[in-house]
Amino acid sequence: MTQIAEPARSERAHRAAKRYIYAWGDGAAEGSGGMKDLLGGKGAGLAEMTRAGLPTPPGFTITTAACNDYFAAGERLPDGLWDDILEALHEVERSTGKGFGDPSNPLLVSVRSGAKFSMPGMMDTVLNLGLNEATLEGLIRLTGNERFGWDAYRRFIQMFGRIVMDVKAERFDEPLEARKHAHGKDARDTDLTVDDLKALVAEFKAVVKADTGRDFPTDPLEQLDLAIKAVFASWFGKRANDYRNSQKIPHDLGTAVNVVTMVFGNMGDDSGTGVAFTRNPNTGENELYGEYLTNAQGEDVVAGIRTPSPISQLASDMPEVFDEFNRIGRQLEQHYRNVQDLEFTIERGRLYMLQTRDAKRTAAAAVKIATDMVDEGVITPDEAVGRIEPAQVDQLLRATFDPAALKTAKRVVKGLNASPGAAVGRAVFDADTAVEWVGRGEKVILVRIETSPDDFHGMAVAEGIITARGGATSHAAVVARQIGKPCVAGSAALDVSYGSKSASCSITGIDFAEGDWLSLDGTTGDLFLGQLPTVQARFEDQPELQKILGWADGIRRMGVWTNADKPEEAAQARSYGAQGIGLCRTEHMFREGDRLEIVRGAILVANAATRAKAKAAAGESLTDDENQAVATFDSAMAKLEALQQGDFEGIFKAMDGLPVVVRLIDPPLHEFLPNLEEQLVKVTRAESAGGASEEDKELLATIRSLHEQNPMLGLRGCRLGLMIPDFVKIQTRAILNAEIAVKKAGGNPIAKIMIPLVGHVNELAFTRRLLEAEATAVREAAGGVEVDYKFGTMIEVPRGALTADEIATEADFFSFGTNDLTQMTFGYSRDDAEGGFLLKYVEDHILPVNPFQTLDDAVAGLMKTAVDKGRSTKPGLELGICGEHGGDPDSIWKCEAIGLDYVSCSPFRVPVARLAAAQAAMAGAERDK
Ligand code: ADP
Ligand code: MG
Ligand code: MG
Repeated sequence: MTQIAEPARSERAHRAAKRYIYAWGDGAAEGSGGMKDLLGGKGAGLAEMTRAGLPTPPGFTITTAACNDYFAAGERLPDGLWDDILEALHEVERSTGKGFGDPSNPLLVSVRSGAKFSMPGMMDTVLNLGLNEATLEGLIRLTGNERFGWDAYRRFIQMFGRIVMDVKAERFDEPLEARKHAHGKDARDTDLTVDDLKALVAEFKAVVKADTGRDFPTDPLEQLDLAIKAVFASWFGKRANDYRNSQKIPHDLGTAVNVVTMVFGNMGDDSGTGVAFTRNPNTGENELYGEYLTNAQGEDVVAGIRTPSPISQLASDMPEVFDEFNRIGRQLEQHYRNVQDLEFTIERGRLYMLQTRDAKRTAAAAVKIATDMVDEGVITPDEAVGRIEPAQVDQLLRATFDPAALKTAKRVVKGLNASPGAAVGRAVFDADTAVEWVGRGEKVILVRIETSPDDFHGMAVAEGIITARGGATSHAAVVARQIGKPCVAGSAALDVSYGSKSASCSITGIDFAEGDWLSLDGTTGDLFLGQLPTVQARFEDQPELQKILGWADGIRRMGVWTNADKPEEAAQARSYGAQGIGLCRTEHMFREGDRLEIVRGAILVANAATRAKAKAAAGESLTDDENQAVATFDSAMAKLEALQQGDFEGIFKAMDGLPVVVRLIDPPLHEFLPNLEEQLVKVTRAESAGGASEEDKELLATIRSLHEQNPMLGLRGCRLGLMIPDFVKIQTRAILNAEIAVKKAGGNPIAKIMIPLVGHVNELAFTRRLLEAEATAVREAAGGVEVDYKFGTMIEVPRGALTADEIATEADFFSFGTNDLTQMTFGYSRDDAEGGFLLKYVEDHILPVNPFQTLDDAVAGLMKTAVDKGRSTKPGLELGICGEHGGDPDSIWKCEAIGLDYVSCSPFRVPVARLAAAQAAMAGAERDK
């Protein structure tokens, strides 16, 4: 027998050079809350609960440093660590009065992983370790419960076999299912008899032998050694790797290993195990929320193998235990000043706490909990702001199903509303298919009997998830909430067949197969057939979110503006808290309704008319054709000017009293014309059928003449305005006359005119001259109304950034156009790269992130140069960003660091940006301390 004999210990060769082991409650883990780096979340929680006098089973933690040193030494335990483990184990033996490997009173342990950040179910845990034929006998004798003993043993072989010896889970599931089925179709684990369990143990051992070529290890110390190494190894397992990638958790943290005295929830009806949250993690309601199973071991609840009872049931089953648990929950919540997610086991009426950690929660719950806790005086408003993730704000503004459509929708099944939100996609039945389909642009709903960590990659790409089994704390539910995907769990009436890739509901009789469209409502728990229309979530109806953002507004330094081209968009953004328009793209208005025709009419003669006007200005006389071109052009441009003035009036009204940055025409003209190939085909077809129209031929000629090899580097932005000055002129007049009209109507418009794509100060100076001449004319005609505007430029060409000191002499403000700036700094064509090699680049870690999503550091460095140079010329220069990055939280942090005055983003991202800007400001203040 391998019980550790006393002499062996006193003769210990040596101790490890570092302290790798912390026993809970031994005092060394003082302030263990701050030792998560070393002890991992689970170990720190157990140590802290022990110190607080709460009931935990004795045990110890092997640190993350041991894990890292283990890998650094080529997967060898650091010198002396094993001896230290034996010593710690002996302490546990002493405090429990049991012996590891001792048949007369066997100590069994769990070996549990536990990293700094909780990674639910991503790494491995082995329960009931220390069992063999001899200790099993002892366990049975002591408990007088043969069934319990054999059940524990078969579980151990199953878990150890799978996790430590790499035997496939199905290899154990098959014999287990077969034994269960012998008791009827709906038989449960608890229907298995002692004889079944004995037979299973023999079958499991045979499976291990067949698949690994070796006998199942009987020496408890060998079991321990192998299990510890397996937990270390699970840190680099595929699931854990994928998870860390998706959650941006560094790969070099390592996992701690916790060795914990086993307590048994499967010792009869006065025993049980469960998971509970101190507040409802879906709604944030201040009520104990959770589930438990009687006569079961921990894994059973999480794995969704049996459907558990709500925690409230415990109040009637075991009132004292419930009260104690409730009290402990409150105590832990007070202690951590946060909602806790608890794991517990009841062994013959005695409660043991096995885990505590900050609870994952839905966005709605996060916001409610944060505001409630401020009201309760538990946390400050600043802390509340710090606790909401920008992505959660985003989720709260996500769509729900259109109630009108819901009335006639065909419901397949109703399950548990495990994670809120509306999702529409096509049915797929396994994670790999989900990834494959999404890869080719499909949207999918992942349909599973239950999920396990092996399904994570599919869950991450699915729009939503539905499972037939498992409760509100099942793997599917917990993971879905965390990654913000709608999820319906425990749809018991849904018969899912992986074989035929189809499912049917035993109640409604409705079925569906792979590829069918589904609409899933994680808020209500409904699954519908087809594609239901969705409606946006209403910001107005979310007072708690508004409260948080109100606090955020008091913290942030940067303004939050919006990119909006239409009055409705502007109004929406304003209701979200936008403090101005940072980018109004005038050319978007060119495409509305019948305007495109007018624009095309102008473009067709633009060059000819511009040349003719130059000629006339030089005093030369014009031909009839030239006069005609000028007349056609001027009439089209006059129409455009009138239409644009109307647009600007609408926007100024919507943003009354707030600044509006209007950017003059930016894209190359060919963007307003039909595609060259299409027009060529059209003309060629018409010619062979008898002749194309003059109009079509002329259009083709114009398209050809405007064709460029690299249009994004071609005639666009300020270059276009300098070549065809009328664009600048009519737009200037339209903006200023709109300002006059709105002022006359009693409004307060604040106009800013912005010139795109400036690389050389002269481009700006020349454009400014053009523009000011127009402004003077408008002023003279204004009849006493004051005409006011600020003049500025986009910084989006690297040369512009590098010469920002010169450019600032001509500008009142800069706005960083980081889409173009990124494109030109990297030399990537955004339109081509994003759908092409960039994906692969990010996947292969050639680039850490997609630089069009999150501001690249070199681009940010270029911005910083421009900021410093610009301000050196003009200290009061106003600086903002209007590229896509303005709504990306990580990029917003960089903007804060660079010292911009505001960020501008699409209306929907305004609330997110308000929060992110506040968090960035807090982090900045923290750094400066
Ligand atoms: P995870 O991180 O995946 O939750 P855990 O290490 O917390 O893994 O353990 C898995 C399950 O086993 C949990 O339900 C837990 O409560 C249970 N468990 C772990 N250790 C023990 C123990 N010593 N006694 C009883 N149950 C345990
Ligand atoms: Mg756990
Ligand atoms: Mg641009």
